[in-house]
Amino acid sequence: MTAGPGEAAYVALGSNLGDRAGHLDAAREQLAALPDTVFEAASSIEETAPLGGLDQPAYLNQMVRLRTRLTPRGLLEACQRIERSRGRQRATGARWASRTLDLDIVLFGDRLVEEPGLTIPHPRLPERDFWQRELAELQRDDR
Ligand code: ATP
Ligand code: MG
Ligand code: MG
Repeated sequence: MTAGPGEAAYVALGSNLGDRAGHLDAAREQLAALPDTVFEAASSIEETAPLGGLDQPAYLNQMVRLRTRLTPRGLLEACQRIERSRGRQRATGARWASRTLDLDIVLFGDRLVEEPGLTIPHPRLPERDFWQRELAELQRDDR
């Protein structure tokens, strides 16, 4: 944890298995309940085709802005706990496999993080148009 009011963290939510909207609802609730964290805003929900031309159900995507005093690593661990709570299975070796819930940290304040298992800004931000739209939507009321 760090001192002060905390930093703006942007977390991308995605689901393409089961009750997709229900998984997003639960993720927002659990993020809002994190310690030392305030839930500030949520983007609209957008349906997108699966990445990489994979034969999968479509995704529901949404981005949220938190204000948090957790560390980036602490937030990642919380995100992974929330994914597991929604029954996320990690298929070994399968990249971009279907999932009940995916939580990715897109931005965390103005930090640059390059550690094993954690890169911020998220390296796929430049190629994901829907993330850029959601981010722009959230940053319009970021004051
Ligand atoms: P993508 O990252 O392309 O969206 P994905 O979300 O399906 O793919 P996951 O299986 O959820 O990938 O995560 C793979 C690994 O990515 C995780 O073990 C996690 O440690 C790592 N990772 C690195 N940077 C981040 C980040 N900014 N947010 C979330 N996970 C990250
Ligand atoms: Mg992802
Ligand atoms: Mg992920």
